[in-house]
Amino acid sequence: MPVGICRLCLEDRELQDSHLYPRSLYKALQNEDGGNPNPVLLTTEKFVQKSGHIKDYVLCHDCEQRLNRYGENWVTRHAFNGRDFPLREILRGYPPVEPTQDDRLVPYAGAEISEIDIDSLIFFGISLFWRASAHEWTLLDTKIQLPLDAHEEQLRLCLLGKVPIPDDVCMNIMVCSHDAPCRSFSALGPLGDPAGERKYLIMLAGLNFMLNVESAHFGDYQWSTTHSPHRYIYTSSSFELMNTYLTASAFLKQKGLDAKWRLHLEL
Ligand SMILES: [Zn+2]
Repeated sequence: MPVGICRLCLEDRELQDSHLYPRSLYKALQNEDGGNPNPVLLTTEKFVQKSGHIKDYVLCHDCEQRLNRYGENWVTRHAFNGRDFPLREILRGYPPVEPTQDDRLVPYAGAEISEIDIDSLIFFGISLFWRASAHEWTLLDTKIQLPLDAHEEQLRLCLLGKVPIPDDVCMNIMVCSHDAPCRSFSALGPLGDPAGERKYLIMLAGLNFMLNVESAHFGDYQWSTTHSPHRYIYTSSSFELMNTYLTASAFLKQKGLDAKWRLHLEL
């Protein structure tokens, strides 16, 4: 194994073959109905079907273990695995915090549901955004990096347990309410002002994590998973649609197409 600076602890260590999309959740991307089991990889230049692990030598063994222990282990056992979706089943057994007119976004009090380890979910989500910022990953011909700038260091210290989640960064966690969640992985951002208020999105294994950075809206924090006293977690029937829309938007933007085209996709 190569030796280098671990991006999390900043120590000179042997580096592991670290993953952006956790290997333990890979089953959710695989088609088990026969035929080619590999996911379709869509980048700005290519559209292919292959295994597509997104990995590089980034973290030392101890830091990999830390990310597993405080986040990934619980999430792997409860996220959509291609067949079962334990977290969604737990939420189906509880009433929402308040009635909603439809099932597009339904809030639950994550901190008050004993079967849910909300701290692991939050830690895992933060680790995803930090990983996506701290290293330039490669998928086929495309570089993947969601730069968080100064907030990257805040999240690194947060993952090491040295500081709480910053006051100007909040995150929402949504759980797909479909019977058959999308088997996909999306990473998008920054959306909005690259130097100001902006959003980042990561969707995988039936879960959608949305990071709001420097939001000026009190409601973003009040209703977030990270900053609300009840640790709101949402079920949603529409987040996949939203991700598809945002993916298409980012794709079309790269191609220099007119913004009106992107608005039509929302329909
Ligand atoms: Zn380390």
